[in-house]
Amino acid sequence: MAPRRLGQHFLEDSSVVDSIIAAADLRSTDTVVEIGPGRGALTGELVSRSGRVLLIEYDDDLADGLAAKYETNPGVRVLNADARDFGSDLDPWLTEGPYKVVGNLPYYAANPIVRNFLESTRKPTTMVIMVQREVARDMAAQPGEMSLLSVAVQVYAEAVHVIDVPPECFNPPPKVHSTVLKLTPTPVPTVQFESAEDFFNLVRKGFKSPRKQLHNSLSDGLFIPLQDARSLVELTGFETSRRPATLSIADWQVLYDTWVKQGRPAQVPGSTRRKRNDRRDG
Ligand code: SAM
Repeated sequence: MAPRRLGQHFLEDSSVVDSIIAAADLRSTDTVVEIGPGRGALTGELVSRSGRVLLIEYDDDLADGLAAKYETNPGVRVLNADARDFGSDLDPWLTEGPYKVVGNLPYYAANPIVRNFLESTRKPTTMVIMVQREVARDMAAQPGEMSLLSVAVQVYAEAVHVIDVPPECFNPPPKVHSTVLKLTPTPVPTVQFESAEDFFNLVRKGFKSPRKQLHNSLSDGLFIPLQDARSLVELTGFETSRRPATLSIADWQVLYDTWVKQGRPAQVPGSTRRKRNDRRDG
């Protein structure tokens, strides 16, 4: 992909670097994965404060430059790869023990990169990430403002706001504001499901028409008659006037359990199974 399409806005504000490094809470024995190291605004601090650093950079020239810079340091490896497809469950450094993720993420790919790590079998212990401000709000949203992305993140992790970052802290400045978030994956998902695929299929359908009441949205998403969708919501004990954004993670658990008990009513044309590349947030 051409560099200008890789979300390359390089951090130039040392106080933002300090905040990210402080939030990462590094130890000299830590293994850290940095996503999109670019010209190394965060990399030097990561290398000096932790034991091993794995750099994943998609841009060939930037990856070559980092490989040359750290050639003689056995504690640094550079992968010239797309972090959306990186397999943390396969990399020897990450399968040996716990690891942390840090990154000023390319905004076009932030959601799939976060999902790739949160849904992997080898999840990081923490992720300190910079994303677009609106995306950060969605990821950390509370009931009343929840979205599909809020559920997708909060089923796997606790999300805490670290700092807002204005465009002038970057070169070139992006058109949007940014936010640093700290995600701490929970030991087990916050929802108990037989199949994550089934659960997120329901959530995705539930947000089909986010501004409508939940039963309308479910009727649209699941292709079931309005009356059936209303009965499903009534069985959960929720007010039928509720909109999808008001449901907490615990509410989604109740709705999912009720839906499963009812035999997963849906008349979805074609397969209901999500394909590997069917991005949930797309
Ligand atoms: N960390 C640097 C900084 O803070 O100045 C650069 C951050 S810049 C916002 C995003 C970086 O991610 C760029 O270096 C870009 O080349 C890289 N990148 C873009 N897409 C990527 C992908 N899919 N996987 C890994 N790195 C990617």
